[in-house]
Amino acid sequence: MSLAPDALPRSPIVGILRHDWTRDEVRALFGLPFPELMFRAQSVHRQNFDPAAVQISTLLSIKTGGCPEDCAYCPQSARYDTGVRAEKLMPLDAVLAEARAAKSAGASRFCMGAAWREPKDRDLDSVCAMVQGVKSLGLETCATLGMLTAPQARRLKDSGLDYYNHNLDTSPEFYGEVITTRTYQDRLETLDQVRAAGIHVCCGGIVGMGETREDRIGMIVTLASLPAHPESVPINMLVRVSGTPLEGEQNLDPLEFVRTIAVARITMPRSVVRLSAGREDMSEETQALCFLAGANSIFYGPKLLTTPNPGRDRDRDLMERLGLSPMEP
Ligand code: SF4
Repeated sequence: MSLAPDALPRSPIVGILRHDWTRDEVRALFGLPFPELMFRAQSVHRQNFDPAAVQISTLLSIKTGGCPEDCAYCPQSARYDTGVRAEKLMPLDAVLAEARAAKSAGASRFCMGAAWREPKDRDLDSVCAMVQGVKSLGLETCATLGMLTAPQARRLKDSGLDYYNHNLDTSPEFYGEVITTRTYQDRLETLDQVRAAGIHVCCGGIVGMGETREDRIGMIVTLASLPAHPESVPINMLVRVSGTPLEGEQNLDPLEFVRTIAVARITMPRSVVRLSAGREDMSEETQALCFLAGANSIFYGPKLLTTPNPGRDRDRDLMERLGLSPMEP
C-alpha cells in the first residue's frame, strides 16, 4: 500500500521551500495516516530546526478592550458583553517593567498587543517609544496593533520593531462568518506593508471556530502561498469566551489540531510554528504531540492578552519532562 496519495510525492522528505502549494496537495497531507503525517512533519522539522529547541515569547496587552471590530472570537470587541473593560494605552514605564520581568523569566521576544482597528498616529508615537525601550533591554520586539499604512509600518521598523503580528484567522471562504468589519484583502494589504517595510511577519490563524477541514486547508494554502512565508506562524485553538458569538462552538478534535500544526510545518518548513492560544485547555499529551508535529514556539506567561494561559511553572515543568529547552534568539 502506498502512503502517498496521488497528489503527494512519495518521498517523506518534503521540506523544500515552495510557494505553490495546491489545495489538492494540502488536502492530501491532512488525509495522511496520522503516523505518516507525523513522520513527514518530524523529518521536515529536523531538516530545519533543532527538534529540542522551543522559542519563547511573552505577550502583553498594552491597550485592552473597547475595540470597534467584530471578530467573533474576541473578548476585546466592544460589541460583545464579555466583562473585559476598555482601558487606556499602558504607560511606557509599566510596559518596560513587564518586559524586564519577561526577560528574566526566559523570554527572548516581547510582543505588545493593542485592541485597535488601526493605530492613530499619536498612539504610534507611544508604541514606537515602547519598541525602542524593549529593544534596548536586549529582547526581540513584536507588536500587533491592527491594520497599518505603509508610513506607519516604516515608522515601526525605524524604531526597532522586529516582528508584526497580523493573522489571516481562517480561509478566505470562511472569513466572512467570523469578521465583517474588515476584509481578507485588508489583511493581506497590511501584511504587504509590513513585509515592504522590512519587518518580519507573524501570521497564522485560529482553528475550532466551526470551520470545516476544507477551511483549514484554505488557510494553510493561503499562508504557504504568500510571496515569502511568515517567519512566525501562530496556530491558535479557539478559546471560547462567554459573551462572544463563538462561546458555544463545538470542541475540535485535538488530533485535528495536531494535524493542522503538522501540515503548517511541512508546507512552511523554515517558519517557526507557534503553539498559541488554547493551551490552557489542552492536555499535556496533546501539547507534546504538537511539539512532535513541528511546533517550536510558545507564549509563556499566565495570560494571553485577556485569556488564561498555563503558568510559567507548568510550562517549565512540561518542557523539562519533554527535554525541550529555550531557543536562542
Ligand atoms: S481580534 Fe483584534 S481587531 Fe478583532 S476585535 Fe479583537 S482586538 Fe479588535
